[in-house]
Amino acid sequence: MHDGLDPHLHFAPDSDGLASRVRAATAGGLAIFLAETRGARLGTCRRIGCDRAFVDLGRNATRRYYSTRCGNTDAVARHRARLQS
Ligand SMILES: [Zn+2]
Ligand SMILES: [Zn+2]
Repeated sequence: MHDGLDPHLHFAPDSDGLASRVRAATAGGLAIFLAETRGARLGTCRRIGCDRAFVDLGRNATRRYYSTRCGNTDAVARHRARLQS
């Protein structure tokens, strides 16, 4: 609350380089987000071979894929697997 500012967090000292401060602010923001959402809003893509993480902003937090393209690719793969079995 220095200099008459509202309460805020410093994740890295101003003396650090820009890249270091961006990294620290990103990690700090993600940590706060994870704590507030209890981890329920962060997911990883279910498509086999894809390990991308995403933030689920949907109302019901039911997102399963990183992108629509991942979802379509996975649907085709699952369809092909069913045909072969
Ligand atoms: Zn400050
Ligand atoms: Zn994916």
